[in-house]
Amino acid sequence: MHLGAIADDLTGATDLALILSRAGFSVVQVADVPASGKLPEADAVVVALKSRTIPVGHAVQKSLAAARALLAGGAQQLFFKYCSTFDSTDKGNIGPVAEALMHLVGARATIACPAFPRNGRTIYRGHLFVGDVLLSDSPMKDHPLTPMRDANLVRVLQRQCVQKVSLVPLETVRSPERLTAALSDLEGLAIVDAVADEDLIALGRAVKRMKLITGGSALAMGLAQNFGLDAERGQDALDWPAGQGAILAGSCSAATLRQIEAYRQSGAPVLPIVLDDVVAGAQTPEQAAAFCRDAGDQAPLIYASAEPDAVAANQARFGVAGAGERIEHFMAELAVLLARSGVTRFVVAGGETSGAVSTALGVSTQRIGPEIDPGVPWTLAETRHGRLALALKSGNFGADDFFAKSLGMLT
Ligand code: ADP
Repeated sequence: MHLGAIADDLTGATDLALILSRAGFSVVQVADVPASGKLPEADAVVVALKSRTIPVGHAVQKSLAAARALLAGGAQQLFFKYCSTFDSTDKGNIGPVAEALMHLVGARATIACPAFPRNGRTIYRGHLFVGDVLLSDSPMKDHPLTPMRDANLVRVLQRQCVQKVSLVPLETVRSPERLTAALSDLEGLAIVDAVADEDLIALGRAVKRMKLITGGSALAMGLAQNFGLDAERGQDALDWPAGQGAILAGSCSAATLRQIEAYRQSGAPVLPIVLDDVVAGAQTPEQAAAFCRDAGDQAPLIYASAEPDAVAANQARFGVAGAGERIEHFMAELAVLLARSGVTRFVVAGGETSGAVSTALGVSTQRIGPEIDPGVPWTLAETRHGRLALALKSGNFGADDFFAKSLGMLT
């Protein structure tokens, strides 16, 4: 194994696995560390955790366990991957996990670069932009679990860290000599500016000797060159299971809300989930599964997603975690019922939601298939319910026609 990656959520892991695979790595994604502690053979192994919003101590523990398994499997470099919108709170978990991993590998310094220019995430003067607006003006300010209300990532990360957080500005990134010098002088953590793919490729080259790097998935674009791998390696041929499809959405992100609306307008069968009814027992996963069975040829969409004011009302009644977990639990139970009734192709919207669904389905490994939209591939998963095709989408990813497009792609 050349590269060992730890991702703090499942859709992020898949997004990273896709970029590594396109860059020339053979990649296997695993859900958590297997009980045996032994990881599969590949140029890169991505361990998908669900550690973004769990208590910080727990996130550190899980990340360290993954890192130890990756190092035991021969990883020469560790990559801690988080969201390109730096999803976290003042307590963590990005900073504490990064510092614990630094300690584990004996690194004096590491970088933090969530930029993903093709998805509109750029960093300039340490400030994260989402498209044309600062992170703090983007819909991320209303995220149900990790509202991002400060765009200055140096400040955000410093609040989470014991060690000093500094900035590597764009003009340094754009000068190979200055970048090498800046990284070799670095102590602690540094947010690195990047506004274009070329910046990430230059950064990838410059971090060749770092034991630990941290960032968004796009940082992986420049890593294959460090291990002598070839992007022309081509895609593994995968054998997709025949069968029915279903779409489960638990993301309240702006892109997912648009995708739901587009799918609804196409005349597809859609069923909204209302948290009050779920809690009252008036809406059950069994009923939703029956709706799916009766839906006809077009894949049904079941969604809990709602606009920010409706989410806030649910959170006021049930708590932030309480509302989120109840919905995740509902989607997870529904996924199991659907898998038992012969659904073999699942599109899931939302990072946490995907994590809950994947855990319930008992996913062990995922191999990367064709890309649906930037950052979201189809994956072929080995699960407790046999082989399933899974498209697990981070809430904000994908074009408006994502749902119809994804299901239309598999033969
Ligand atoms: P994203 O990828 O957009 O961040 P996630 O699935 O990670 O999506 O997070 C969305 C969270 O919001 C989940 O915990 C989900 O259960 C929760 N959620 C979904 N719908 C609602 C709702 N109507 N009210 C409150 N919380 C909701």
